[in-house]
Amino acid sequence: TEKLLEVNDLKMHFPVKGGFFKRTIGAVKAVDGVSFDIKKGETLGLVGESGCGKSTTGRSILRLLDPTDGEVLFNGEDITKLTGKRLRDIRQDIQMVFQDPYASLNPMQMVGDIVSEPIKNYHKNRKGEELKAEVMDLLNRVGLPEDAYYKYAHEFSGGQRQRIGIARALALKPKLIIADEPVSALDVSVQSQVLNLLNELQDEFDLTYLFIAHDLSVVKHMSDRIGVMYLGNIMEVAEKSSIYAEPLHPYTQALISAVPDASKIGQKRERIVLEGDVPSPENPPSGCPFHTRCPKAMDECSKIKPQLKEVKPGQHVACLLYE
Ligand code: SF4
Ligand code: MG
Repeated sequence: TEKLLEVNDLKMHFPVKGGFFKRTIGAVKAVDGVSFDIKKGETLGLVGESGCGKSTTGRSILRLLDPTDGEVLFNGEDITKLTGKRLRDIRQDIQMVFQDPYASLNPMQMVGDIVSEPIKNYHKNRKGEELKAEVMDLLNRVGLPEDAYYKYAHEFSGGQRQRIGIARALALKPKLIIADEPVSALDVSVQSQVLNLLNELQDEFDLTYLFIAHDLSVVKHMSDRIGVMYLGNIMEVAEKSSIYAEPLHPYTQALISAVPDASKIGQKRERIVLEGDVPSPENPPSGCPFHTRCPKAMDECSKIKPQLKEVKPGQHVACLLYE
């Protein structure tokens, strides 16, 4: 299948200002050379601890943040170079579902208005009963009751608010949805309902997902392939089955070791506990970003930055052990 999205060496560095003249004295390297692609109809899960740059990656694809460097090809067109009308047009095709449905929806706005707003913005000719019917249909598709149209966002529970956010994201019939921790603010009991809904909608609306989460079991439930991020870099990308059955990067191995394995009841996996904290992205380690915590680090790991490389079919790893 064709690639819908291709991200090449994406960097997002935020300047750090300081001193009397507030000059730039450094940079937070939130995203420091990230590459991956997503095929049409696929779900790529992006996983990593908070602060690893996964949300910033998602936001810079949409140009909510302007990346410092790199390419973001959407259907072959570099989004980072777009301006004006073309950028506005392409934003119909890429929509975002945010983490916190309380913060991302105006509680005092009527649900019908929330969901019709993007349609009105892009299609001035759609109005009246026709527009209302379209919005009603969307509310129905995401599992909200019909009378939701005239209610306010604050009248709904967290899970239902996330359904409103999803209806809004679907309103312009996008091709790609970037879901940034879409269930992590929700009660565990409603998380799987929202995840199942996203899965159903994917088939129904021909959607491709970039699914960002810190929770490995959530990512496992959703993804076809998984990318593992650490300190602004991708450590490993592979099919979900390979990542879980045979993680190759030492960081992935540690993450996976912490997840209970349902297929091996009674048999404990050996848990790999990492020493120390994640270093600051303002002053990342030289060489391999993971070397300060890696149980398998070698001398050269502090000197050479490993590049992502296909180690097994479809399994790309950035680690000097495999070079
Ligand atoms: Fe560990 Fe070295 Fe591989 Fe980095 S390059 S993950 S420090 S073994
Ligand atoms: Mg799916």
